[in-house]
Amino acid sequence: MSLLSVVKYGNPILRIKVDEVTDFSNLESFIEDMFDTMYHEKGIGLAANQVGVKLAILVFDIGGYELDEDEEGDDEPYSDPIVFINPLIIESKGECSMEEGCLSVPEIRAEIIRAETITLRYQDIEQNTYSETFSGLSARVLLHEIDHLNGKFFTDYLSPSKRMLIQKRLKEIALTGTPSTGIIL
Ligand code: ZN
Repeated sequence: MSLLSVVKYGNPILRIKVDEVTDFSNLESFIEDMFDTMYHEKGIGLAANQVGVKLAILVFDIGGYELDEDEEGDDEPYSDPIVFINPLIIESKGECSMEEGCLSVPEIRAEIIRAETITLRYQDIEQNTYSETFSGLSARVLLHEIDHLNGKFFTDYLSPSKRMLIQKRLKEIALTGTPSTGIIL
């Protein structure tokens, strides 16, 4: 296993729209490294440009954070690692608010309103195409990561007054990788 380093707010690769994956031949070890890095950083989603690669790939595993309703009371953590290649939102429904954080924007958390249910088209590592519907925390994480692939941060959704509150911290992250103090908005 090898760990990749997560780039932080301020790095220009987080502000670009990444390229579609067309060559599926050498992705396996990179995707394994993305999963290793996400677990190591205790994240539940990670986009390729967060580790400096300009490709439409994201990894996802909300295991331990959301139990299947049938499994409630069961101590076994639910784990479902999935890689999404070239994900595309084809439908979104509803609205809900949840607190978000980001490995590239450490120690800043904020309530963000997003769609509650989404249908995605995506490919796997063998180039099979799927259409699948996600809701709740899964949809939340996927929307956050797909935003990364389009050069967008969760903090972009904050009102101007809330954004003012984190301006200094964002500058500190860009300079040193971490803010002098954390904040929850
Ligand atoms: Zn993020």
